[in-house]
Amino acid sequence: MGIIKSIGILTSGGDAPGMNAAIRAVTRSAIYNGLKVFGIYRGYKGLVTDEIVEFKSQNVSNIIQMGGTILKTARCKEFTTPEGRAQAFENMKKHGIDALVVIGGDGSLTGARIFAQEYDIPCIGLPGTIDNDLYGTDTTIGYDTALNTILDAVDKIRDTATSHERLFFVEVMGRDAGFLALNGAIAAGAEAAIIPEFSTEVDQLEAFIKQGFRKSKSSSIVLVAESELTGGAMHYAERVKNEYPQYDVRVTILGHLQRGGRPTAHDRIIASRMGVASIQALLEGQRNVMIGIENNKIVYVPFTKAIKNDKPIDKELVSVLHELSI
Ligand code: ADP
Repeated sequence: MGIIKSIGILTSGGDAPGMNAAIRAVTRSAIYNGLKVFGIYRGYKGLVTDEIVEFKSQNVSNIIQMGGTILKTARCKEFTTPEGRAQAFENMKKHGIDALVVIGGDGSLTGARIFAQEYDIPCIGLPGTIDNDLYGTDTTIGYDTALNTILDAVDKIRDTATSHERLFFVEVMGRDAGFLALNGAIAAGAEAAIIPEFSTEVDQLEAFIKQGFRKSKSSSIVLVAESELTGGAMHYAERVKNEYPQYDVRVTILGHLQRGGRPTAHDRIIASRMGVASIQALLEGQRNVMIGIENNKIVYVPFTKAIKNDKPIDKELVSVLHELSI
């Protein structure tokens, strides 16, 4: 492998708060270490269509506090084809880009892995997703902010739920991973969480109903991970309405507001650490790894591990929620 003199950076797939802090960290750390930096707009799309601009330190001034991503993000079908990736490689050569830093989720890192193998390009991934569903890292960029957004919303819902003695199903993001629903439920003091990892979702509702919604309670809040398979919160609300007409049931779907907002201190700090680590990794000769943080230490996780393995839910968290919801 030749010496890396120039890197490209892109954000891809679902946006997450803290991506800007990561862009800033990667850019500044690269410049600090004497590398040239190119911002690639709209994820892999910009790599294919040549929306590539050289970044100086000032390009990333005043963005650490902003949600979203200044580089924009997109989903790009062309990049999933060999022809699209060939075009992307041509554009990299044209600008003299030797390596890529990709900030995104599961899909984006899959794309990076395939591209890196095909063209022998060093690629480093940063886990940018609110779902926290990448293996090998305790947390992902955007997860903490989304969790706090959920708390804000559920705290408000609880005020009205208590006043009217209602049962609320609150749908949160995470169709393949229940981290937001489970930890959101613990932190918000909700009564239950319905998550994709455990048994069937119907069983989880059944268990909650068998507890009698805790009859001593005047209101209940259940967090539900979104699911195309079951129909999510709407589905459970309908079921309860039909089978237990005595309950006054309501649904709130938090939707895209979970993706927005100023990143929390935690997300800004991990994005900054991971961004710096991505340049360090490239300079050390690492390639095709995702930067993770485990037990508060930076780790390198091979793409194949990060993408292919399911990140397990800690059963202790399930017990905590269960015990505290009496
Ligand atoms: P996320 O990164 O949030 O999981 P997506 O799954 O939508 O988001 O993936 C983002 C982009 O990554 C896709 O639009 C595509 O360009 C690229 N990508 C995903 N899977 C592949 C693949 N198997 N081969 C090549 N590129 C891929």
